[in-house]
Amino acid sequence: MPDAFDDAPSRRLLSIVVPCYNEQEVIETTHARLLQLLASLDLDGEIIYVNDGSRDRTLEILRSLQKSDERVRVLSFSRNFGHQVAVSAGIDAAAGDAVVLIDSDLQDPPELVPEMIAKWREGYQVVYGVRTQRAGESAFKLLTAKAFYRLINVISDVAIPLDTGDFRLMDRRVVEVLQRMPERDRFVRGMVSWVGFKQFALAYSRAERAAGESKYPLRKMLLFALDGVISFSLMPLRIAMGFGLVAALMATIGTLYVICRWLLTDNWSPGFALLFVGVFFLGAVTLACLGIIGEYVGRIYREIKRRPLYVVDERLGFRDQ
Ligand code: UDP
Ligand code: MG
Repeated sequence: MPDAFDDAPSRRLLSIVVPCYNEQEVIETTHARLLQLLASLDLDGEIIYVNDGSRDRTLEILRSLQKSDERVRVLSFSRNFGHQVAVSAGIDAAAGDAVVLIDSDLQDPPELVPEMIAKWREGYQVVYGVRTQRAGESAFKLLTAKAFYRLINVISDVAIPLDTGDFRLMDRRVVEVLQRMPERDRFVRGMVSWVGFKQFALAYSRAERAAGESKYPLRKMLLFALDGVISFSLMPLRIAMGFGLVAALMATIGTLYVICRWLLTDNWSPGFALLFVGVFFLGAVTLACLGIIGEYVGRIYREIKRRPLYVVDERLGFRDQ
């Protein structure tokens, strides 16, 4: 006789976290695909849309999606706080036994989620997507992304898997650790690596944006890369110290040379050019090092103010309401 509790452990809750910033063109298509996904699963589901201060009709659309389905939750920020913060807010609000992070533009195929769930059931606490191919991205973005993930692994304190985005499934235990990580500089994929546990890399090819355009212009991408480097590594400070040591060595050699020449030869010349170049070189190195130190100090300053990470304007559809 089948036991009534047989499928009890599988009827668990899956939370899907979707950050949205000016996504009015695509959000309804995405929602339809996510509903299809939920219908194909033997799990209960909730979809948490985080509206990151959109200035278009995104919030309106989300409100109406929420009215049509009680599994939809909407968290709306008071302004734009950035993608990584939006993802973090979704993680904070998620009640699921497993939480999936997915972009709202359908670049990450929802159809991969069942495979992630299968791996989760095999006992992996994190299943992250690795992009083997990326359609519709500029050669420049591909090259810079590739270079960045290699660089960060050389210098970072934790190994961050190559070519991953935030598309991933995480077990409740991982989510609870993330909820307790209060840092301001949120490089979510690095933070998940830091948490550890058993992690599985699932290869997929990243699609083109279904509609709308990228919300990551070059400036934001560079700042994001800087966050990744500085919040996971003290290497830039060590490089600064290295510059200092090399400069000190050169100064010592130079001094010895000057003294020998003064004592042992009679064609002693003032060496003006050398002096000039030397002063400028050292000035440049000093300023660069100050800049690096300043970057860390600035972050410490931001961190100690202990402001909330984001400000929520509206919450719809949450159980505690
Ligand atoms: N996003 C966000 N806040 C931002 C920028 C982006 O919530 O300030 C969301 C955006 O709606 C999308 C995801 O983050 O769901 C990834 O952004 P996008 O597709 O523009 O980045 P790309 O794929 O081009 O790197
Ligand atoms: Mg995208």
